[in-house]
Amino acid sequence: MFPADYRASRNAFFDACRQAGGKMESHEHPLRGADGDVVATDVASFGAASASQVLMIVCGTHGVEGLCGSGMQLGLLQRGFCNRIPQQARIVFVHALNPHGFLELRRTNEDNVDLNRNFIDHSCAYPDDAAYAEVHPMLVPADWDGSARREADARIEEFVRIRGASALQAAISRGQYTFSDGLFYGGRAPSWSNGLWRRLLQKYAAQAQSLAVVDFHSGLGRRGACELISGATANSQEHRLANTWFGDGIVFPGLTSTAPAAAGYMGSSLVETLPEVASALVVAEIGTVSFDQILLALRADNWLHARGQRSSKQWRKIKALMEESFVGRDRPWQDEVVEHAARVCGRALAGLLT
Ligand SMILES: [Zn+2]
Repeated sequence: MFPADYRASRNAFFDACRQAGGKMESHEHPLRGADGDVVATDVASFGAASASQVLMIVCGTHGVEGLCGSGMQLGLLQRGFCNRIPQQARIVFVHALNPHGFLELRRTNEDNVDLNRNFIDHSCAYPDDAAYAEVHPMLVPADWDGSARREADARIEEFVRIRGASALQAAISRGQYTFSDGLFYGGRAPSWSNGLWRRLLQKYAAQAQSLAVVDFHSGLGRRGACELISGATANSQEHRLANTWFGDGIVFPGLTSTAPAAAGYMGSSLVETLPEVASALVVAEIGTVSFDQILLALRADNWLHARGQRSSKQWRKIKALMEESFVGRDRPWQDEVVEHAARVCGRALAGLLT
């Protein structure tokens, strides 16, 4: 079964990687968790350091989605995905890239930053946040169980009635850089996880010819389905490589994906950090519940951390809603999801080696 929480996941990851003969390292976050314990991103590598072809498999970029992504990593390890690695290949698992988000069951990190909107050039002007600014007051009401919330919900309904659900989704999830207490906030500087990720790229892939990255996410799409999403621009080398390594079922945000076009995607870090390496990153997005429920859970959780009380009844209720919105707890769903992981990662590895 998929792990119950960050602590259980971390232990299971260590056990499974050690058993499979992986080399482990831990990167402790400078802040301890709210539970007083160390919080870390853990890495396991399999195969020769001199390998020319590198596959990196990441979970927990959006913390709470680590509940699903770590289950996928464990499923791969238990199926023996790392047992017979060809000489020219290396496989690197990154567990909980955003560890505070995973511990707290949040999409965002310790600063309410959405890591997958944080990979933007912070020295340049930020994108225009006017579309988000319009919906921000509806998303973050003053209370969650009172009249402010009811009014906010009514305004959201009206927005959807007049402008459509996709306009709402686009305004929210594109990423914004102005409202630090809002949703999909990309931050004003590279986050700790952003810096660590670039160091991991250097360490594990700088010597390689080719690098494929699979970043496990969950939430959007039909329940149990897996959508492969690439942020690569049309006709770029990454676009071509993504199609070659992962097959032509890949979708592109804003065109054919359930995910909208957005700023600050993690995929841009590959060519920025390792311009000499042929590389592509694909998000494997596993469907859980409807977009309406995802949005409700994200609003509730955002409200909770901005204005709510830790350890309250409401806290437990909203955290339960976050969990059920981003991971399935039934066996058939989890089996299907591990199948997706094996298919996607198996295909990527085969693609790298041809
Ligand atoms: Zn995600």
